[in-house]
Amino acid sequence: MKKSEFNTFLKAIPKAELHLHLEAVISLAGVKKLYKNKYGKEMSKEEQTELFSYEDLNGFIQAFLKIQAMYSSVEDFRTVFDELEKYLVKNGIVYTEVFFAPTAFLKLGFKYEDMVKIFDEKIENIYKKHGIVVKMIMDVSRTFGCDNAMKNYELLKQFPSKNIIGIGLGGAESKGPAKDFAPVFDLAIKEGYVAVAHAGEDVGPESIWDSLNYLHAQRIGHGLTACQDEELMKSLEKSKTPIEICITSNTFTKKIVQKAKDHPVKMYFDRGISVNINTDDPVFFKTTLINEYWLCHHDLNFTMDEIKQLVKNSFLQAFMSDKEKKDYCQKVDQAWSL
Ligand SMILES: [Zn+2]
Repeated sequence: MKKSEFNTFLKAIPKAELHLHLEAVISLAGVKKLYKNKYGKEMSKEEQTELFSYEDLNGFIQAFLKIQAMYSSVEDFRTVFDELEKYLVKNGIVYTEVFFAPTAFLKLGFKYEDMVKIFDEKIENIYKKHGIVVKMIMDVSRTFGCDNAMKNYELLKQFPSKNIIGIGLGGAESKGPAKDFAPVFDLAIKEGYVAVAHAGEDVGPESIWDSLNYLHAQRIGHGLTACQDEELMKSLEKSKTPIEICITSNTFTKKIVQKAKDHPVKMYFDRGISVNINTDDPVFFKTTLINEYWLCHHDLNFTMDEIKQLVKNSFLQAFMSDKEKKDYCQKVDQAWSL
């Protein structure tokens, strides 16, 4: 199948995305708008080039923090949600669980409750307009330590929203070992929230073990370095803990793979490990969800039947009821046979 045919076909298939960062859905035009509002002048070409040039995960995180620092007020989240809406529609995504990382915004003086009010309003609006369900996961962040993560989690409880379903651990993996965050994860799980963790993106398989053993993470983001540990691979085959795969993102941060075709996702899939396909940060990594499926098909030799299974996996591995999973999978089947 040609790329253009594949894109048209895949766009019409209802899809879910489970590993997506709100702040990285914004387009370059959106970034320029934030910059102008904040600094009262246009962003220069040099600044744009500099912002988007990074060679590893820590460099990327610095760029991510720079964009967060460009927000002038909580109202800027409206722009970001408008971009999210466009992204979801463009990719035929009908369900998503989106990370947002409040720390940088709280440091800017934004009130958490004001952020949540805008999130709820925009999420409701996206659902009314398109029938797209958006859930959010708070990235409590490993970059700023456990006390900060606990403070973030306390805000989540203090200002509850039906759209914010739990916590995630993102940020600089090499600087924040998962086990340091066990107190926050223990509490969140005990109190009925979902809990996921980025692990094995920039650090070896021990980071994945820690996220499973100490955090009891219900899904692992990236899980790239699992392929370095046969015992872990066997454990993942058995436990079926889902891995949120982000192929292009991993080729940018270059920890294990330089090219999409070297990514271990096909090997994970063939071994029966539960995987789902995501972009992570589509604007930063110049990709889309449809393109990630294309890479699976074209570069990694997933057959179209296997692509269909990957699409279903994102629903089956989402935090939703069994009935909802079944309904979405039926919709995938229907759209596939049209
Ligand atoms: Zn991520």
